Amino acid sequence: MAAVTEDFAKKCEVKHNETLGRYVVAASNIRAGETLLQEQPILLLPNNGDRRCCNCHKLTTLFCGQCRLLPLCGECADHDGRDCRRLSAVQLQEEHVEQLQAQTEVYTALKYLLLREHSETQAQYEELLQMDSQLALRRDTDIWRSYRERVITPLQSSGLLMQLRNGSEINEELLQHLLGIADINACEIRAPESGGAMRGLYMRAGLFAHSCMPNLVTAIDEERRIKVYANCSISAGGILYNCYTNILLGTDERRHILKTGKCFDCQCARCLDPTELGTHMSSFVCNSCPGGYIVRQPETGVWQCLLNAEHTLKPEFVANVLERAKEEVFHARDDIYRLELLLAKLGRLLHGNHYVVLDLKQNIASILRQILQNMAHRPNRKVYERKIRLCQEILLVLKVVAPGLNRLKAIALYELANTQAELARKLYSEQEHNAADLLTELQQTEMMTREALRMLLYEPILTPEGQLARNMLKELKEIQNDMKVLQQPNDDVIN
Ligand SMILES: [Zn+2]
Ligand SMILES: [Zn+2]
Ligand SMILES: [Zn+2]
Ligand SMILES: [Zn+2]
Repeated sequence: MAAVTEDFAKKCEVKHNETLGRYVVAASNIRAGETLLQEQPILLLPNNGDRRCCNCHKLTTLFCGQCRLLPLCGECADHDGRDCRRLSAVQLQEEHVEQLQAQTEVYTALKYLLLREHSETQAQYEELLQMDSQLALRRDTDIWRSYRERVITPLQSSGLLMQLRNGSEINEELLQHLLGIADINACEIRAPESGGAMRGLYMRAGLFAHSCMPNLVTAIDEERRIKVYANCSISAGGILYNCYTNILLGTDERRHILKTGKCFDCQCARCLDPTELGTHMSSFVCNSCPGGYIVRQPETGVWQCLLNAEHTLKPEFVANVLERAKEEVFHARDDIYRLELLLAKLGRLLHGNHYVVLDLKQNIASILRQILQNMAHRPNRKVYERKIRLCQEILLVLKVVAPGLNRLKAIALYELANTQAELARKLYSEQEHNAADLLTELQQTEMMTREALRMLLYEPILTPEGQLARNMLKELKEIQNDMKVLQQPNDDVIN
């Protein structure tokens, strides 16, 4: 059930205009870290194309032996009895059951229709109907036709709809609207298997407008409850912005995802600035002039050098380079030597902050983390220094595109602090540094760790970030203890 805390009603006001549709503003001044909303999902759905058990949400190919229409994995004995009984009461021919089972997206439609069916959930269903599905923009697009063919026609021809409450009212328009609601409003959430993703539909979390420079943070805990909090202070009347895409992608990729998935053109400050606020996350190196970068002008779409407008790139060339680069990054994955070579090679084509280059750098940094964690490798000073350098480069970009409280920034800062502290301790133990050097280093890393921790303080405890914050706290105490020891006038330590 959608249990919404009082916060949303007190601190937020839902408005409507032509450009944004429904959106939310701050009803009063809001502090950084202040919670605006906590709610349970109204529906949990697989990503399109996936089939998940309707009880435990693990991937499965099996169906419930009773109702035969909802997927149920081998480990789950049963699922929501009300849904199962309702669907079991529907009379279907064998071939129709098979047709409905074959299309994964039928599940989404059935879950909505079941909310409509039970008297206890009809109010929820009515509220859900109010959500935006961008019906006009989606009409007769590929996704529209695909839903017609894969979901709506099989449901209509099976005779199932006519056996539901006021079945004649369930027409294509309604079903397209319902399917669109999930596409436009659902949030990506963690799936049971590691690294997997599924969708949660939240009644209120989907109301916030989008910006690639959001002033809100969304966190989803182990119970799939969503928490939305401010990442900076927001004045009363200010529009509240969530980010519906990955901030570490370039403008074209972000806008493409938003356009195809959510049906709108983002007009945020970052999207309208060809240099992406000076980060150059989509810029190419100009080979015709030293120090020149080629960016896409938003009005004309032309890729032009910032120093000389005559220096241009063809869009096909840009697309080609990026496609090949992404492929090469993918194939070099986990091989640090190939990744470093690729980084040097791409550096001649793309800006050092280009999102593909950043992805590569993150990849290398995470391999270095594994090397440093395994002391059997006896990593030398260069490995630490390489990782420190990469973390610093990643952080510089994050500071611009993710101002305020941000978990990616917190993690990168913590990684940096952690590696710097380890290197300082190693150099001290090898007597390359004296106690005063170590103390200076630890003071710096203590500040960075505290800053990283401050950014994760508002994360729910039952999330990987919440757990990370606990580890940070432990490490912070260790650093502070070491600092105390070093500050004591003790002949054993000071050499
Ligand atoms: Zn299951
Ligand atoms: Zn069943
Ligand atoms: Zn944007
Ligand atoms: Zn140039």
